[in-house]
Amino acid sequence: MARAYNFSPGPAMLPEAVLRQAQADMLEWGGAGASIVEMSHRGPEFLQVARQAEADLRELLAIPDDYAVLFPAGGATTQQALIALNFADPGQRVDYVVSGHWGRTALKQLVSVDVNVAASGEAGGFRGIPAREEWRLSDDAAYVHITANETIHGVEFRPAWGHVPPETGKVPLFADFSSSIASEPIDVSKYGLIYAGAQKNLGPVGISVVIVRRDLLERAGQPRADIFDYRSQLKGESMLNTPPTWNWYVLGLTVRWMLDEGGTAEFDRRSDEKARLLYAAIDGSGGFYRNDVDASVRSRMNVPFFLVDQALDAAFLDGAREAGLIGLKGHRVLGGMRASLYNPMPVAGVQALADYMREFQKRHG
Ligand code: PMP
Repeated sequence: MARAYNFSPGPAMLPEAVLRQAQADMLEWGGAGASIVEMSHRGPEFLQVARQAEADLRELLAIPDDYAVLFPAGGATTQQALIALNFADPGQRVDYVVSGHWGRTALKQLVSVDVNVAASGEAGGFRGIPAREEWRLSDDAAYVHITANETIHGVEFRPAWGHVPPETGKVPLFADFSSSIASEPIDVSKYGLIYAGAQKNLGPVGISVVIVRRDLLERAGQPRADIFDYRSQLKGESMLNTPPTWNWYVLGLTVRWMLDEGGTAEFDRRSDEKARLLYAAIDGSGGFYRNDVDASVRSRMNVPFFLVDQALDAAFLDGAREAGLIGLKGHRVLGGMRASLYNPMPVAGVQALADYMREFQKRHG
């Protein structure tokens, strides 16, 4: 069977070139006599892979030298727990801006800190992000946490919202970039910490990326086991224990691919084009398809949409699959449909989706 256009929210589509490389390397890597997944993480082969992945990620995201990069095992939720442990003193205030489901999930990972929800879009059904002037930030917070892109609600901090990234004064801004990292150039120096699970824009699930200003690592934080200590992890090159070597390797291939394709400036351009195509299909449907998010914060990465009649959902998904378009079923929290347009999704895939949507409407509208 030919590969379909896969709109899955994550684990998500990977570039075919990356999959082919990974397939070839699965038996034997670079003359080592074994695949990368069968070698010691302390050996020269894997160390080279790991260090190259970091160098390439630094180049891709223009990460300044005063920022450390960690590759922790596991997902973004784990980082949501670890940031409070590492950067907030026991009982210290932490500020959270909640713009969707994942911001709410981040709150659930907090223990032994004084949580201030500085702003939330929940009352409005997470269709917008409260204006920066409405945020009730604390002067003494350990950090301000935002979700750069809400994967389920399709709400993203976009320039049209106002000042992006939001100004937080002397309190460092921490951002969950799980579903939008590397989709456009960002000024890393505006953030204290950026984290992302890899399984959307960066590669396979099982590994995350944490980019943190080095001086913040000097904070005492909360009593915690060494394995949960970012400072120790940095000293140990994210290998205090056996890291997920294969995932790290495929992440490296994916980052390399993004550099070869033209880097974040090029993915910014493609993201604009893809989002324009899809929102035009929705907004031009006369209400047959609907997306309820404020235009100023509509996500370019995840586009939730609803059919005018829920009874058509199953037929829409069946027809999409036949047309080679998969992964479109919406998250159970919202229902409906959702198309995820991460970096590996080509413009042609979104064009095919928009064409299919118009054709489906002709048959059922
Ligand atoms: N934050 C965001 C923005 C996400 O999209 C996700 C997963 N979809 C998470 C956090 C949780 O990530 P993980 O499953 O890797 O813990």
